[in-house]
Amino acid sequence: MSEGKVYLIGAGPGEAELITLKGYRLICRADVILHDHLIPSELLRLAKPNTEIISVGKFASRHTMPQERINALLVEKAGDGKVVVRLKGGDPYLFGRGGEEAEACADAEIDFEVVPGITSALAGPCYGGIPPTHRDCTSSVAIVTGHRKDEKEIEIPDAGTIIFLMSVGNIETIVNSLLKAKWPPETKIAAIENATCYNQRVITAALDDFLETVKEAKLQTPAVFIVGKVAELQKKLDWFGKKPNVLILGNHPQKYQRLGNIVHRRIIDCVPIDDYSEADAVLKNIDTFDWLIFTSVNGAKYLFERLYATGKDARALAGAKIAAIGKTTADRLTEFGISADMVPQNESSEGLLEEFGKLDMKNKKVLLPQSEIASKQLPDGLLGMQAVIEKMTVYKTIDIDPGAIDFDCIDQILFTSGSTVRAFIKRYGCVPAGIKVYCLGQPTLNVAKENNIQAEVLR
Ligand code: SAH
Repeated sequence: MSEGKVYLIGAGPGEAELITLKGYRLICRADVILHDHLIPSELLRLAKPNTEIISVGKFASRHTMPQERINALLVEKAGDGKVVVRLKGGDPYLFGRGGEEAEACADAEIDFEVVPGITSALAGPCYGGIPPTHRDCTSSVAIVTGHRKDEKEIEIPDAGTIIFLMSVGNIETIVNSLLKAKWPPETKIAAIENATCYNQRVITAALDDFLETVKEAKLQTPAVFIVGKVAELQKKLDWFGKKPNVLILGNHPQKYQRLGNIVHRRIIDCVPIDDYSEADAVLKNIDTFDWLIFTSVNGAKYLFERLYATGKDARALAGAKIAAIGKTTADRLTEFGISADMVPQNESSEGLLEEFGKLDMKNKKVLLPQSEIASKQLPDGLLGMQAVIEKMTVYKTIDIDPGAIDFDCIDQILFTSGSTVRAFIKRYGCVPAGIKVYCLGQPTLNVAKENNIQAEVLR
């Protein structure tokens, strides 16, 4: 049995990409993950399929698992020889009781390592547009917890900038304590709510106005507060709040980062079909086809998966010409060593039919690898040209729950396929007013139009 070990890992403040590479790699290796409440769910999806995932944050009935129980679980699982990842918000050693968890490991003689994380205490101000230190303002920062329920006053340390965590419920005491400690009433203070996430809000005011301002804004947890001269830079340095929030309902959202703050949600999943016997039978005669037409990225992906599963590779397609419905599909084909012979300018079934119309398709054998539900326009058009059509189902799509989306915070939506458009409409009925819609290609735009969505192709 391998030696068990505990890794206390900082998951970062909220945005999934703000985890360290080391943390990322360890999540991919974990046998067990114990995670806090507000961990980006994308990180949990990195886990191996058989990883045991345990939420120890606010779960059923909003109770958290008692600390002793968490400590005992860490020791128990690592004692069983498992690689245990304890995934904690922000940095594991800052106000997260990470120290106690490490002590529990040390006491039980369990091997452990700590992977620091980007703390919300610093990421919050950073994404809120406030550098905690600045040569013109201050050279010292203090990080303070405001979570001392029964205290009427918070001890204010002597520093040029003070950052408060766990303080939303106690903000009145904090402001009063600052004023009492002779902080000028006109000093700027900022709250950064849901820092680094697409629904981040920054609320700033002078100290003596702040309580009213946050009350009006209905400030919620989690939030960090930062007070000091540096907070005056907020308007000038607000780089994150300026970018549009772009909801992407497809895979590979990283490709679109230039568009703004990416809010990635998946609404459909492409999955294998249950029975490939028909597809495999077609693959046996793959060398008899004159044309293969790929109408989606997934058609390409799943055809090749099947080809490989039956012991073949791209060489099996050497005798056929290849068409792709658009550039995205053609790009995906190059990953399998195929350079498409035909990619219509007009990226759609009509575009393909226009191009095929220029050729003599009579008695030409055409293979269409596609999903369970595929439009009839293309096969019908080709039949009209007296081609011989073989449809081959290689995958299907299923609807999945995209999780909560606050549409008030979404500026743009990018649809990457017709199926995501259909799934979106099925779930939400329409695109909420005021949201600008882009589609990845003409075929997707066509589906958007069919569903009365005003959209344009992404340039
Ligand atoms: N170890 C964590 C802090 C845990 S204490 C870290 O390093 O970030 C929990 C407090 O962190 C919350 O009360 C809040 O003040 C702050 N916090 C955590 N995530 C936050 C976020 N996304 N936005 C604003 N504040 C956050």
